Amino acid sequence: MNIILSYDYELFFGQNTGTVENCLLKPTNGLLDIAKKNSIKLNFFIDIPFLIKLKSLSKKHEELASDYTSIIQQLNMLKDNGHSIQLHIHPHWYDSKYDGRKWKLNTERYKLSDFSDNDAKKIVKECIEFMKSEIDVKPVAFRAGGWSIEPFSKYSEVLRENGVLIDSTIYFGGFDYSSNQYYDFRNCPKKSFWNFDDAPTIETDGYFTEIPISSMKFGFVTSMLLSIKLRFMNKKMVKAFGDGSGIKNEIETNIVSKIINKFKSKYLGVSLDGIASCLLSKTLSKQLNSCGEQDFFVAIGHPKAQTTHSLQELDRFIKKAKKMNKFIVYSFIKRV
Ligand SMILES: [Zn+2]
Repeated sequence: MNIILSYDYELFFGQNTGTVENCLLKPTNGLLDIAKKNSIKLNFFIDIPFLIKLKSLSKKHEELASDYTSIIQQLNMLKDNGHSIQLHIHPHWYDSKYDGRKWKLNTERYKLSDFSDNDAKKIVKECIEFMKSEIDVKPVAFRAGGWSIEPFSKYSEVLRENGVLIDSTIYFGGFDYSSNQYYDFRNCPKKSFWNFDDAPTIETDGYFTEIPISSMKFGFVTSMLLSIKLRFMNKKMVKAFGDGSGIKNEIETNIVSKIINKFKSKYLGVSLDGIASCLLSKTLSKQLNSCGEQDFFVAIGHPKAQTTHSLQELDRFIKKAKKMNKFIVYSFIKRV
């Protein structure tokens, strides 16, 4: 099996975005230490609209200029060490402001589909050009912000023209119809890769290849066991490095719905974050039973959501998995 460990490199999108130091730089360095120790390479989906915004405000605000320089240094270091840097887009940065002390996010247009066709295309183009000029990277893979990839046809042409041939947004069984996010992957192929044209959930012999995030059914028992484990673990071990707060889902502002939602059986992307990271080995073993050597196992994580415990789990997982599997980066995948 080919294993892809992918991290969305981004701040938080709630009231408090958190700091670049604690959400990005520090935890990413922690991940890199583990990758180095185990001689494997990682994949990072960089939230490019954030970097574009940061750069544009750098002349006016010294602290933003310093954040920008540190990020670019880290991305260059990632690249020089053979890790893969790919395209992630959270377009709400185009509508957001900095008040001289903190970011004031406007998430009314959270998805690319909230922008006009023309603007969505312009954003994707600008992001790719930015990657080329600022970090000398030509992305081959894309992941939509907040899984909200549809309608992909709005901007697929720009990705195609610029050599982006892989998407890695989808996870089988996932869906969300909240005001910010919108996606439905309940009818996508139950496979570890397929080709498509303009609709990522429909397999054709099109130009793009979908390498979906691996999916797992998350039931009541697993949720309960994780909650109990979390309760009895050392608080310091399970505290996230990221110092911001997430965007509030309107379904979850109600306490009853929050509890129901937490324990309801659902599909989730295989996660490298927080307490869920302790399920990695078990999920991989399950998938190995039904998959071949050509297949992919893709896990998703965020530097901001790493904990001392999740880094330990990652180390343990890699050591075990690398005996029988290959850890790969998107840039090595040609058309499958
Ligand atoms: Zn993201």
